[in-house]
Amino acid sequence: QAKEKGKNSLCFYTSDINDRLQHYQNISAILYDALAADGLFLHFQPQIDLQDHHILSCEALLRCQDRNGEPLSPDVLIPIAEKSGLINRIGDWIIEAACQQLVNWQGTALEKVRIDINLSGKQLTNPNLAKQILNCLSTYGLKTSQLGVELTENEVIGSDELQIDQLKQLKNAGVHISIDDFGTGYSSLVYLSKLPVCSLKIDRSFLVHAMENESDMAIMKAIITVGHSLGLSVVVEGVETTEQDRLVKSLGCDLAQGYLYARPMPAGDMLKYLTSN
Ligand code: C2E
Ligand code: MG
Ligand code: MG
Ligand code: MG
Repeated sequence: QAKEKGKNSLCFYTSDINDRLQHYQNISAILYDALAADGLFLHFQPQIDLQDHHILSCEALLRCQDRNGEPLSPDVLIPIAEKSGLINRIGDWIIEAACQQLVNWQGTALEKVRIDINLSGKQLTNPNLAKQILNCLSTYGLKTSQLGVELTENEVIGSDELQIDQLKQLKNAGVHISIDDFGTGYSSLVYLSKLPVCSLKIDRSFLVHAMENESDMAIMKAIITVGHSLGLSVVVEGVETTEQDRLVKSLGCDLAQGYLYARPMPAGDMLKYLTSN
């Protein structure tokens, strides 16, 4: 019987690997096709200044559909793009698409709104990344301050000197740099103070639990204090309720992003959102 069970579990094991391989191949193919056939999109989510509720910037979030038209989460897409090496081409597409969008907003009420793109740690290993981003901005006649980049805390911690130098070049040129999902990694304060950074984005998980969990509240307060004492602005992600909005205001966060203010939306809806709020 043990033998039987062993055989079965071996079967489960191989079919699990097959499923994962199939999934990987499937998503890679979708991404590959999307790149070739205009199947990638960016949605935009406003980042609100908590003092006066104006939209300072918006985060560009990757969108892509499967063969049935169902949305695929970037949390699924990005890791597969990284493994398959497609991330560089997708990353290039995102940089260009963000610049094109900024151009389209010139002359409208959105012309002062910065676009923040997410960078994968893999893109930072390209020693020409900073140059490429700056070239793209200048080709489109944009100011460097119109673009921002977000990198997760863990990606930044895992970076070497040369990769950090890419961020330095961007920051020195005037591109806004944010550390995303902050608080979930292990960066020390000394390390943080040496990084080329403008903003910290507190990971959503802290806000979710802050109301009932004292330690999450304490961590949020600490991040805000540290961020401010290093001269950084502090953004909170995932604000969904008016209670959370009140809380983050009382804690002194500078900016907020979340479903309470707006969900990520197609570029065309941003103008409507701006004029109705
Ligand atoms: P992120 O950069 O931390 O982006 C925030 C995520 O939280 C987005 O999910 C956004 O839709 C979601 N969100 C915003 N407000 C709320 C809220 O109030 N409640 C809840 N529950 N969620 C909220 P999304 O678009 O699914 O993206 C997931 C992650 O995928 C992003 O996390 C980012 O790490 C990655 N990603 C998305 N677009 C790109 C991209 O263009 N390039 C790269 N490299 N990564 C991307
Ligand atoms: Mg982000
Ligand atoms: Mg985040
Ligand atoms: Mg995230």
